[in-house]
Amino acid sequence: MRTLIANGTIVTADGTTSADVLIDGETIARIGTNLGADGIEVDETIDAAGRWLIPGAIDVHTHMELPFGGTFAKDTFETGTRAAAFGGTTTVVDFAVQSRGKSLRDGLDAWHAKAEGNAVADYGFHMIMSDVTDDSLKEMDGLVDEGISDFKLFTAYPGVFYSDDGAIFRAMQQTARNGGLIMMHAENGPAIDVVAADLVGEGKTDPYYHGVARYPIFEGEATNRVIRLAEAAGVPVYIVHLSARDALNAIRDARDRGTKAFAETCPQYLFLSLEDMGNGFEGAKFVCSPPLRPADHQEELWQGLIKDDLQLVSTDHCPFDFEGQKDLGRGDFRKVPNGLPGVEDRVDLLHDGGVVGGRITKERWVEIISTAPAKLFGMYPQKGTIAIGSDADLVIYDPSATRTISAKTHHMDVDYSCYEGRQVRGRSDVVLSRGSVIVRDGQFTGKKGAGRFVKRAAADYARIS
Ligand SMILES: [Zn+2]
Repeated sequence: MRTLIANGTIVTADGTTSADVLIDGETIARIGTNLGADGIEVDETIDAAGRWLIPGAIDVHTHMELPFGGTFAKDTFETGTRAAAFGGTTTVVDFAVQSRGKSLRDGLDAWHAKAEGNAVADYGFHMIMSDVTDDSLKEMDGLVDEGISDFKLFTAYPGVFYSDDGAIFRAMQQTARNGGLIMMHAENGPAIDVVAADLVGEGKTDPYYHGVARYPIFEGEATNRVIRLAEAAGVPVYIVHLSARDALNAIRDARDRGTKAFAETCPQYLFLSLEDMGNGFEGAKFVCSPPLRPADHQEELWQGLIKDDLQLVSTDHCPFDFEGQKDLGRGDFRKVPNGLPGVEDRVDLLHDGGVVGGRITKERWVEIISTAPAKLFGMYPQKGTIAIGSDADLVIYDPSATRTISAKTHHMDVDYSCYEGRQVRGRSDVVLSRGSVIVRDGQFTGKKGAGRFVKRAAADYARIS
């Protein structure tokens, strides 16, 4: 199968040029002007005139079917990757979970089983370590060889995912030897639990108090602490879902002194705020951790993206229905399942707020949604760019289309949207995964099970810092 994408404007992290792209099978075979006049035989020509051709976006933080608080995140790999594709995202990296007392292998096998035969677009895995033992430390080396090259640990959620400083430091020592990367959920969980119990004791049980209990300083403290531990172990470190200026300051200081510290933020921290958590139990729709912050943090996070103290934006997509799941926390905000839907909206929100909003260039936008994730997580240049030999994961993007985000029209399997009614400029018109059109003009044309596991390399950090 050969497809010619003609007359488009190619936008990559490196620059913008007008050229055609020839796809042969699953990869990009040629890039040049007027390829159609060369007498090349193709099965299909797609006219991309007036639109941008960008590399398929990559979301390195999703939780399909995550067990949390007695229920499961609602999107499966089928519905979640399909929704991602509608939004221009052609690769997700999800988190396999090691349960306490079980091996990494058990957790990884379970996530392979969830994804294989179901995902409609490509996927990889990080590994959540909730039990650092001699055995699980040894297992890490094998996982790096299998293409699961990073490990997420938590300073939050005591009794569930929490690791103490000794466990975190041991995992870091292991990645110093095996080339893996430690990803950290950095909030001071034990301190948060004290404040949360105090609030509930005072009768402050609404979801809003979830946001109040998790002080920004608890995120700043934990972020600085894990960066210092990484410096002591001599390894790079990656902070997931950075939400607060306190944590951004810790990352910036570390990078200024030459530490290989990296961080992502998420659309919810750029576009939503603590105020959204008011309004009684409605606020449960916005319960995630770290929580939404007072609005004055938002512009600082944008500055972090502009100055590359934050390298990328991922979603932490972890959807729970408002009816039947979020309401497990009626009467006690501590029991609201933590997580928001978002995998479908990231590309357009970032285009609208970033490029249309005049904060970043379209090239930096592509870098934040696709290229930096590919480089940091060992998928570049197979993914994350438009180059000869790269996977033909491509999006024909209409930067002038407008659409209104709504649960009535989104494709995520969840009964509400955090951005209900928000109008955004920019829309993915045609989405290709390894050369196959999987979304065209609002219709899904892909196949369940067509997505493949991406075996990722350990990242080349020198290339990005
Ligand atoms: Zn997460």
